[in-house]
Amino acid sequence: MTTRILIAGGGYVGLYTALRLQRRLRRGEAEVTVVNPENYMVYRPLLPEVASGTLEPRHAVVPLRAVLRGSRFIAGRLTGIDTERKVASVAPTAGPWLELDYDELVIGLGATSKLAPVPGLAETGIGFNSLAEAAHLRDHVLRQLEIASATTDTELRKRALTFVFVGGGYTGVEAIAELQDMAIDVLAGYPELDAGEMRWVLVEAMDRILTTVSRELADRAMTELTGRGIDIRLGTQLESVEEGELRLSDGSKFFADTLVWVAGTRPQTVVGELGLPVDGRGRLVVDQAMRVEGHPGIWAAGDCAGVPDPETGRVSPPTAQHAVRQAEQLGDNLVATLRGEWPRPFRYRSRGEFVTLGKNKAVGEAFGREFDGALAWTLRRGYYATQIPTWNRTIRVLGDWLVGMPFGHDVVNFGSREEPRGAFEEAAGRSRVG
Ligand SMILES: Cc1cc2nc3c(=O)[nH]c(=O)nc-3n(C[C@H](O)[C@H](O)[C@H](O)COP(=O)(O)OP(=O)(O)OC[C@H]3O[C@@H](n4cnc5c(N)ncnc54)[C@H](O)[C@@H]3O)c2cc1C
Repeated sequence: MTTRILIAGGGYVGLYTALRLQRRLRRGEAEVTVVNPENYMVYRPLLPEVASGTLEPRHAVVPLRAVLRGSRFIAGRLTGIDTERKVASVAPTAGPWLELDYDELVIGLGATSKLAPVPGLAETGIGFNSLAEAAHLRDHVLRQLEIASATTDTELRKRALTFVFVGGGYTGVEAIAELQDMAIDVLAGYPELDAGEMRWVLVEAMDRILTTVSRELADRAMTELTGRGIDIRLGTQLESVEEGELRLSDGSKFFADTLVWVAGTRPQTVVGELGLPVDGRGRLVVDQAMRVEGHPGIWAAGDCAGVPDPETGRVSPPTAQHAVRQAEQLGDNLVATLRGEWPRPFRYRSRGEFVTLGKNKAVGEAFGREFDGALAWTLRRGYYATQIPTWNRTIRVLGDWLVGMPFGHDVVNFGSREEPRGAFEEAAGRSRVG
């Protein structure tokens, strides 16, 4: 009988495992089903550029149905598994839940924001993990500029122009750097506003930012960002947010209409509800071959799993470059298992890291060398443009970047698409009374 392989999650792990299986499986050897809420894979390292508008949101994703030609795709969410019966429950986008039988299950559900117990945070903040959050933040910042330039209320103007990011890892640094760069660039179109009126604050609990690169590179990034007016508060924590007023542990308090929480991630909640072993950080416990401990036929990798790294003896870091290599090895291991061979352990040594700091600005290290400025920025862009699956996406990404080179950031705020029925409802309301 044909082996049924079910892949939960269509991100890095899901997509690259499926692609590997498509390439390696013989005809009729197994059937592959991928379940993911959206019909696209988000290429998350490009989200900061979606936030600054240098990339179209659609160009930073990979359409799953177009690339998973040999696999079945279901738009839905894994909600639970019955490991005895080998059945997965899936909530499709609409309609009754599905029960999917599997012989082999791959879990690559990724991560979500890890919130701290800060009063008011859940009600006020926004994360920076998804395409929707990145696209929303771009429109939101432009909307704040419109609010500030139109209002006569000085307090409202001040809070509209205050942007706070909590978390100085690469996600937080890239997000604040790209958005502030965009805001400064478009300010020429707002004669009512002055750059000095904008307040951009990066709050970091540790004594440095960017712990995944060398101290020297992190310092270079600090110099670049503070030189542009970003207020970096090291050794500081957000203590509360009440009615728009933020209190920091350094004693300062101020109003802000923008609070972006980028202080860490954790596995998706459902991961802890599957009845599988998890470690202290909620990650699935797997062996070096990415088999879930004590559950033959279940595999996991990426941000939701604690994949041991034989080089360091620690768990692999939650990065795209690790997730891709884990997925490829996982695909090979699945094929080996089907053919009665032994799976192999995951081995990978990080090739380096680049952090964008806005147009023509970045820091990074690769192949034992450190880079900064325009060279680092170009290397980063070149790397991601060529790594994104399919020529279709590579050309779209390069096209956006090429067109953006001679022009400044686009000032168009499309926030109204978040309320597309507004005009229609207004029209309906008028016709009811009229
Ligand atoms: C803003 C940002 C920038 C980043 N920049 C870099 C970088 O420069 N370099 C780098 O190496 N890494 C970077 N990363 C980290 C990298 O993106 C992650 O490590 C990588 O995406 C992990 O892959 P994954 O497959 O585990 O998870 P994901 O790629 O997140 O995929 C998980 C998938 O599972 C889906 N899913 C969730 N719940 C369910 C469910 N119940 N059922 C079915 N599907 C579900 C999700 O919708 C998603 O499609 C960045 C991350 C972010 C957020």
